[in-house]
Amino acid sequence: MLEDKNTQKTSLAELGEFGLISHITKYFKVEKASTVKAIGDDAAVLDASEKQTLVSTDLLIEGVHFDLSYMPLKHLGYKAVMVNLSDVYAMNGTAEQITVSIAVSNRFPLEAIEAFYAGIQLACETYKIDLIGGDTTSSNKGILISITVIGKAEKDEVVYRDGAKETDLIVVSGDLGAAYLGLQVLEREKQVFKVDPNNQPDLDNYTYLIERQLKPEARKDISGLLKELDIKPTSMIDISDGLSSELFHICTQSKVGCKIYEEKLPLDPQVISACEEFELDSTMVALSGGEDYELLFTVPIANFDQLKGNPNFSIIGHITAENQGLHLVTRANQDIPLKAQGWNAMNDH
Ligand code: ADP
Ligand code: MG
Repeated sequence: MLEDKNTQKTSLAELGEFGLISHITKYFKVEKASTVKAIGDDAAVLDASEKQTLVSTDLLIEGVHFDLSYMPLKHLGYKAVMVNLSDVYAMNGTAEQITVSIAVSNRFPLEAIEAFYAGIQLACETYKIDLIGGDTTSSNKGILISITVIGKAEKDEVVYRDGAKETDLIVVSGDLGAAYLGLQVLEREKQVFKVDPNNQPDLDNYTYLIERQLKPEARKDISGLLKELDIKPTSMIDISDGLSSELFHICTQSKVGCKIYEEKLPLDPQVISACEEFELDSTMVALSGGEDYELLFTVPIANFDQLKGNPNFSIIGHITAENQGLHLVTRANQDIPLKAQGWNAMNDH
């Protein structure tokens, strides 16, 4: 499970700050036409275009947002980029550049930082993003990561959280709850490992769950899929904190209510079987799990035929008047009010 056991250890102090920066950044190539100058000067230079610029930042702290005992550093680098790209895709934009700032304690050898940057690089190559700068400093304890993403969108293509209208359909991409269950599986194995380090975990039944937790993918494809269907969402948000919490953001900002249907929530079979094993309610997991990095959006009801039966999307409900509040209709046809937070406050990015 701990694939980042570093065999070689080169101390960061030996290398110095500038040595470290040039070492970790030398493998990055610039590809975007809008990147005029990337790493190496006092500031990066970008070519402004007619389009609007999207900017988003996330700060991740060891022990709060991730646990290195089961999160390999390469995966951490990859995921840290995904978390940011997801925010740009949720605005219906394209991501173009990132900056990456890190604070690391000298407990980390160079090889650990290399693994982290290998994950950043894989994300940049896969998603066609340029790394254009950042900052490197030391911390007293642990590792801190701050990534900023810069993206673009045509003015009339940007989708905000506040545009949902009564009768709009509520749609999610992909499926929900798997990343949260992946974390439960990893936490359990960590406890087992503490008791008996020779115990080799059997994770075959949880491959999808663990992949969703350790190597999430941001939904770069959704914007294009919707364009092909000739659909422009009225509102959109990415699912980082859980479906319920994101619905609250959309409804509050759009001044509407909503009704979603338990039977419509998209669940992977591994989610259903892991919920049985962990004695968790799969609906609660889908509503409050978080870290799925799927997109939640609303579309006019006239788009129903374009979306119906599309395997990328699930229509889970519709927007109602503000005074109706936010509701879940259960399989037993009961109306229950949604809560912004689930029973577990694990997700706070
Ligand atoms: P300054 O002293 O002006 O802050 P630095 O020596 O910190 O410059 O950085 C030199 C160059 O390396 C800059 O282009 C900066 O953006 C880039 N850089 C520094 N740290 C990182 C990092 N962790 N990841 C990517 N680029 C970095
Ligand atoms: Mg600096």
